[in-house]
Amino acid sequence: MITMTSVNKWYGSYHALRNINFSVEPGERIVVCGPSGSGKSTMIRTLNRLEAHQEGTIVVDGIELHEKMKDVDLVRMDVGMVFQHFNLFPHMTVLQNLMAGPMWVRGASEKDARNTAMHYLEKVHIPEHKGKYPGQLSGGQQQRVAIARALCMQPKVMLFDEPTSALDPEMVSEVLDTMTELARDGMTMVCVTHEMGFAKAVADRVVFMDAGQIIEQAEPERFFASPKNERLKIFLGQIL
Ligand code: ATP
Ligand code: MG
Repeated sequence: MITMTSVNKWYGSYHALRNINFSVEPGERIVVCGPSGSGKSTMIRTLNRLEAHQEGTIVVDGIELHEKMKDVDLVRMDVGMVFQHFNLFPHMTVLQNLMAGPMWVRGASEKDARNTAMHYLEKVHIPEHKGKYPGQLSGGQQQRVAIARALCMQPKVMLFDEPTSALDPEMVSEVLDTMTELARDGMTMVCVTHEMGFAKAVADRVVFMDAGQIIEQAEPERFFASPKNERLKIFLGQIL
């Protein structure tokens, strides 16, 4: 589904991604963790070309991402993304937020877009809030709307960038539960998160980044029980 081969990225002279080799199979659930500034957001943002890389190759669902590509929208349709701050359209209702992408980008009819929107609002357990504006919802509810909105585009893979780190503690679990259900449904997922309970319960593989590099990756059991790298040991000591 995703292959990154010898990927390098610089912000000006700052070397943000260093020789990244990383792949994700269809249906795999990956958790990415690491210290602040290690390149986690940069890495997942290169996967839908919110950031450009300068060296190496990235292939997403058979499409190679590169400078001259014309059909970046094609890739973005296949790659759903959920951010720390929900990024909903504030002047649109929940239902309008969910219908916008399918109607504007995919050319869906209003009726189909509405049916799809209601389907995913039920999936995230908040159909009753369809007529509200984002500002009238809790953070956890807004994040679940953001997840539903991404799903309405019928993506092949979902990227999450610290989706719970801006939430009040009591709202974290409702969003993690939604992500867990999505994983159980078989969605391919790459999740940047420090929620290690989620990683243990859901991930097929946990990836540790430091200073722009992937330092270690393993299935959760081995990752947590017998980390090899010293920096990973220190990191786990701080967050567990
Ligand atoms: P956090 O856990 O704080 O979200 P992160 O692992 O997601 O950190 P990135 O946001 O990917 O880290 O940033 C990696 C490095 O690249 C950091 O040193 C950051 O300052 C730098 N960086 C990120 N975005 C830009 C940018 N637009 N311009 C210049 N430097 C940037
Ligand atoms: Mg980040």
